[in-house]
Amino acid sequence: MIYILDAGKPLIIDFSMLQVPVNNIEFKQKFSTNEQCLQFLTELRNKYRPFLCLNCEGKKAYKAYIVRNHNFECSGCHRQESILSGTIFQKSRIPLKSWLEAIWRITEQPILRKAINAYQLQKKYHIRSYKTAWVWQNNIRRIMIHPELDRFSGTVVSDRREIIVPGIRKNDTQKESNVLITVVLEITGNKAKKIRIGIMNDRSRDTMHNFSRNCVIYGHSISDYHVGKPLESVIIDLNKWIKKFPPKSYSLRRLQPYFDEYAFRYNNQNERDRGRLFDKLLKNAVQTEPVTYRDIIKN
Ligand SMILES: [Zn+2]
Repeated sequence: MIYILDAGKPLIIDFSMLQVPVNNIEFKQKFSTNEQCLQFLTELRNKYRPFLCLNCEGKKAYKAYIVRNHNFECSGCHRQESILSGTIFQKSRIPLKSWLEAIWRITEQPILRKAINAYQLQKKYHIRSYKTAWVWQNNIRRIMIHPELDRFSGTVVSDRREIIVPGIRKNDTQKESNVLITVVLEITGNKAKKIRIGIMNDRSRDTMHNFSRNCVIYGHSISDYHVGKPLESVIIDLNKWIKKFPPKSYSLRRLQPYFDEYAFRYNNQNERDRGRLFDKLLKNAVQTEPVTYRDIIKN
């Protein structure tokens, strides 16, 4: 694969490149080749993660000659860095075109009645091994919630619940298991506008509070608003989703990205602008490091 992208030109954000598609026709026009995808991601990375040289802290860079490795080159010390480094796409063997298409498909409406599925990814994008598709699924889920960028403000409440998740085993005979979760809700009126769900390893209030604190902007307090009704309605919807799209995972430890996907879909269920949703996912994508199979298994 060879990419040549305006080599030798200084990095100036081309905002016209950054216009996101609003429908399938525009999507296909804009992202029909890997080169087009790379151009777009280069501009997007410039916008959300401006170049900063790790060697000399220089902020100016040029696009270097790009053969196999598509690089930025620092104008001070000439150190080169991959355009995709530090993004979810870094070192991925999945073509960028498939990546962007899979992300675009997440924005299809109604967003809450879908879930990403490794087997379907494997089939649709002709991926040889299920393992590769499964790691890809995990990485796509990682861009749905960015722990630093997606923090709440306003009226925020939290509480714990036990839910039953099929497929999670604590031993060989057990086919389902109770999972203890903390749900953090940003409340508007009498409804949860946004949620985050965290798997709890123990029942201590400290564990719950630590998770809740990490869901709000720094220093923001968590209200003592009565959490009852908004939380119950979230749990009812979550149980329906779990029944329809069971996680197909046997390990409790690997379930967190599954709940992050649900939270993302819940939080964006009323967003009808596919372009805006796509932009939101890609903004996280250029600011999220990928995980490998080994990273996932280890955790
Ligand atoms: Zn430098």
